[in-house]
Amino acid sequence: MFWDPKIEKLSREKLEKLQLERLKKTLQYVFSRSPFYKKRFTEKKFRPSMVKSLDGLARVPFTYIDDLRKNYPYGLLAVDKSETVRLHTSSGTTGKPKAIFFTRDDIGRGADLIARCLVMTGVTKKDVLQNMMSYGLFTGGLVMHYGAEKVGALVIPAGIGNTDRQLMLMQDFGTTSIHITPSYALYIADVFEKKGLDPRKELKLKRAYMGAEPHSEETRRKIESAFGIDVYNSYGLSEMNGPGVAFECQYKDGMHLWEDHFIMEIIDPVTGRQLPPGQEGELVLTTLCRVGMPILRYRTKDITRIITAPCRCGRTHRRIARITGRSDDMFIIKGVNIFPQQIERVLMGIKGVARNYLIQLESYDELIVKVEIQKRSFDGSVDHMAGLKAEIEGKLRAELLVRPKIELHEPGSLPVSEGKAKRVIDNRKL
Ligand SMILES: [Zn+2]
Repeated sequence: MFWDPKIEKLSREKLEKLQLERLKKTLQYVFSRSPFYKKRFTEKKFRPSMVKSLDGLARVPFTYIDDLRKNYPYGLLAVDKSETVRLHTSSGTTGKPKAIFFTRDDIGRGADLIARCLVMTGVTKKDVLQNMMSYGLFTGGLVMHYGAEKVGALVIPAGIGNTDRQLMLMQDFGTTSIHITPSYALYIADVFEKKGLDPRKELKLKRAYMGAEPHSEETRRKIESAFGIDVYNSYGLSEMNGPGVAFECQYKDGMHLWEDHFIMEIIDPVTGRQLPPGQEGELVLTTLCRVGMPILRYRTKDITRIITAPCRCGRTHRRIARITGRSDDMFIIKGVNIFPQQIERVLMGIKGVARNYLIQLESYDELIVKVEIQKRSFDGSVDHMAGLKAEIEGKLRAELLVRPKIELHEPGSLPVSEGKAKRVIDNRKL
């Protein structure tokens, strides 16, 4: 199903023509309206007229996460403050957050993109969508909410946490779709299990949208089978409206990125050079329709690749593969680069492993992986435990090329978070 078939199936040629038109307009617009870009273009001796084709995008200076922090709060604003109607922020671990402003039309366009995403996965006005993302400054709450309302679904703004209430809402109002982090979905599956209930029988759930945290294909399958539903990957970031930048269609093979609103590039994070389509690297995004706060060539730090093959659904907007990590999530043990997601992928593929785990870094040579295992395994024989431990160690070593120290834990004993999961504890002194 399509929300806007004309644009979703627009030929590549017309889509690229539209992108170039919008890019040129955006460059002129920010040069005359945004104090940050006026200064940046001048410093880099860049002029909007230098871009004559889409290839010319490579000449436009990058925008970094730090630029948003340093120019907080209004530096990237391209309209008068009176034109803005909403503020979201994107949290950072240190210092000031990134402030993102929306005009009324920006809000409308963001909702429209979400509507495309939801309809693509079968949502209609008959659906009930329970949004289990934070309704605070984070975009996952309100942006998804407005889009689901636009489709005409009944939206339950449940927010994060209070699991008993979440379950009650799901049961009493026949929730068919949830927007949730993967770690929280796994936690809810555990809660059902503890109560001796089968979510496949208790709920009317059909689908879940997973964003905000990177996760593996194995985790998706685990959640799909626990609830008997389809799980769709969602990609977005507050700097680019929030959710709705890219989303999976019914084929669940990569996320269509809405190329009439964004231009994507994949670059080498070290050299900054564009990589050929299909190669893995850092995703860089340029907004084409934002009025309040356009952002050019934004270094997302998310590692992915462009899937170039056409999709069976008929949409012409290209797909990005599952995010395999963030360029700054990576840690180094014994000189080897490791992404937390590699560890997750291995663990979730091992029988006997439960749903929670923790990566602990004590030194630059030692990697400790704490793994919850299933009750049956935990209560099993000493030999069985030793065998499982050896299997986890062996498979992780084969994937990471570093031998980790494995600790097995009883199910439910490692800390869980009801929001974004914190999987890596870094105790190393710099
Ligand atoms: Zn598709």
